[in-house]
Amino acid sequence: MQKTYGELNPSSRVLLGPGPSNVHPRVLDALSKPLLGHMDPEFLEILNEVNELLQFVFQTKNKLTIAVSATGSAGMEACFVNSVEHGDNVLVCVNGVFGKRMCDVAERCGANVTRVEAEWGRSIDAEDVRRALKKGKFKLVAIVHAETSTGVRQPIEEISRLAHDNGALLLMDAVTSLGGIAVKLDEWEVDLCYSGTQKCLSCPPGLSPISFSPRAMDAIHKRKAKVQSWYLDMTMVEQYWGKDRVYHHTAPVSMIYALRESLRIIQEEGLRQRFERHYVNHHALETGLKTLGIDFFAEDGRRLPMLNAVTIPKGIDDLKIRRRLLSKYGIEIGGGLGPNKGQIWRIGLMGHSSRKENVILVLNALEEALNMEGAKFPEGSAAQAAEGVFSNV
Ligand SMILES: *Cc1c(COP(=O)(O)O)cnc(C)c1O
Repeated sequence: MQKTYGELNPSSRVLLGPGPSNVHPRVLDALSKPLLGHMDPEFLEILNEVNELLQFVFQTKNKLTIAVSATGSAGMEACFVNSVEHGDNVLVCVNGVFGKRMCDVAERCGANVTRVEAEWGRSIDAEDVRRALKKGKFKLVAIVHAETSTGVRQPIEEISRLAHDNGALLLMDAVTSLGGIAVKLDEWEVDLCYSGTQKCLSCPPGLSPISFSPRAMDAIHKRKAKVQSWYLDMTMVEQYWGKDRVYHHTAPVSMIYALRESLRIIQEEGLRQRFERHYVNHHALETGLKTLGIDFFAEDGRRLPMLNAVTIPKGIDDLKIRRRLLSKYGIEIGGGLGPNKGQIWRIGLMGHSSRKENVILVLNALEEALNMEGAKFPEGSAAQAAEGVFSNV
């Protein structure tokens, strides 16, 4: 007997983890629009618009501001393979999973990697970067703006100055930050940056917006050896996104539609208003969690509004609570990675998921789950505390 397959029927989830986040209905509609050929003049115009809209959210004039046809990790790989040659000195700042991943990628490019580390939950100290840079000449300094594994926000400007004083390029991971907090590529002089579509851009996973500065492009065009990856060689991909329109690989047409719509939504909302919304919802969640005795993992003053990493209360079973949130409320939150496994929860309020109703929902769900484990919080107390924040804005 041949197996038969039923119609696809995924549940509607409230996605409050480290990504993907919930997608706006307009973005889902965009995915179902008629397919165009990837060389159709209409589609090429759409590519131009995506280029302009990406420049807007990245706050840059960089010409090479495009979407790599794969997820955020491919954007990371694209930044390294294009800028790093065998034997180059690369400094990587590591305070979580994604800094570690950068080291792995840089080493696979043949780089001599120097690590500057900070305890997980803390940001990288610019003084440590200054000291490490004194030891030599570096091709690249790489840093994560929003470390999704720990919920830490990283100030960039001083480290960017230090990198450039050394003659190095600055590479920044903006996968989780883009669309949730300010990402100012030109003002901060970031040379290579990559993001992902499924975090604060609230588009499905599948594309990685990147932006390379003229200084980065110059370094890439002066390489001695060819870029070691054919697919991610931006000197070839730029000829498709540029005016020559040279075929390289088939653009993921429907995903480009989706990204265009998600960027258009961001432009309609306004960057400042969007960042403010993320901040208010974070603050309300933080206030509600405090009434449940749940503390933040990330250091005060460096917390990300879109990724709330919190310490699991003593005696509480991580998986049991997360399973209950999913089965009873349809809520997905994230667990800890690496050394934080079983120790922290990561509650995402990203993009379209960053809404008052979700803050209230997750607070009520956590309160009920903790009460089932023997706590005695008066019903609705966490949500009530959060309401206090909302009524003050
Ligand atoms: C999610 C994430 C990535 C990886 O992106 P994928 O889309 O999962 O490949 C890289 N860096 C950070 C900071 C992330 O949060």
